[in-house]
Amino acid sequence: TRVLLTGASGFIASHILELLLQRGYSVRFTVRSEEKAQKLLEAHKQYRDKLDYALVGDIAQPGAFDEAVKSDPPFTGILHVASPFHFNVTDPKTELIDPAVNGTVGILKATKAYAPTVKRIVITSSFASIVDSSKPNDGAGHTYTENDWNPVTLEEGLLKPSNGYRASKKFAEKAAWDFVEQEKPNFDIATINPPLVLGPVKPYVFSLSGPNTSIERVISFIQGKAKNGAPPSVVYLWVDVRDLALSHILALEKPEAGGKRFFITEGYFSNQKIIDVIRKNFPQFVAGLPEKDEPNGGYPKELYKADNSRSKEVLGLTYRGLEESVKDLVESLVELGADK
Ligand code: NDP
Repeated sequence: TRVLLTGASGFIASHILELLLQRGYSVRFTVRSEEKAQKLLEAHKQYRDKLDYALVGDIAQPGAFDEAVKSDPPFTGILHVASPFHFNVTDPKTELIDPAVNGTVGILKATKAYAPTVKRIVITSSFASIVDSSKPNDGAGHTYTENDWNPVTLEEGLLKPSNGYRASKKFAEKAAWDFVEQEKPNFDIATINPPLVLGPVKPYVFSLSGPNTSIERVISFIQGKAKNGAPPSVVYLWVDVRDLALSHILALEKPEAGGKRFFITEGYFSNQKIIDVIRKNFPQFVAGLPEKDEPNGGYPKELYKADNSRSKEVLGLTYRGLEESVKDLVESLVELGADK
């Protein structure tokens, strides 16, 4: 089976690529630099006859995927993961929202026009498309599920980068569902909606200069940079990157996953829980960790709940625990000298 994977140089997609190859898929990945393409090919030398790539520049540009989706032998599935995930922007519209929305709509259009054999497209959305961040600590007994949609407006999305990111994910996912409804293509879609992602980084794609948005708090802990205060959290839910990668592939493989969103989370994390795992397993970092009972360490008094039952029932997904995930993440960072 041959599939296309976008944004393979990213934290999450690098795990998806490895898993696809291990499961016997023939894969074309997209990246935007030749250097990253070569690093990925080198890391997967043993799969050389099942691996190729397409350089795709800025996915905000119309038609960005038009060539990448054409393949002989043709693709049966696509995993669209590429999307900007950082807050280092001056213009949320052109730097976050446009690449997210145009990239998603662009790959759907290109598939409809040029890749008629594709049966399913799995799209990496986010808990950002679900959560109502105007009441992040809503403890009024609310349990988030796949039925929830972030009410953020485009106007609010333009106010600051963090809003812009959440809006980018919500509008991109919405545009995908609208496309399928209106265009009635040959393929169906499934979306994957994870909250904060932790777990080991792949050495061939990791760069300390980032963006490493989802693991930057852990980097700050082991570098002693959060001693006087941990970064505040808005999201208190997490998932391991390996479980998340597998969920993408299961959503591609299981017929009944078509037409569904999947909220992929193990459960709660807090800064304090991460700090406790580091303290227990890595004595060399204890001196640099925030003090006990650090103000941003725990949870708000009342906290929303999360229902991940669809991921277990439809995908058959099981979840790693936080200790294993944080331990493996820190070990991978230490191997790369990221603690220095
Ligand atoms: P990374 O920053 O590691 O990966 C982002 C990927 O998208 C990179 O391959 C990057 O390419 C590519 N990309 C970004 N902007 C563009 C652009 N304008 N044109 C072309 N390619 C682009 O982040 P993650 O792996 O964490 O994120 C991957 C996906 O998962 C995103 O869709 C993100 O929204 C989603 N997500 C992540 C969560 C997390 O906590 N990590 C939580 C929920 C959802 P390059 O390497 O060239 O920069």
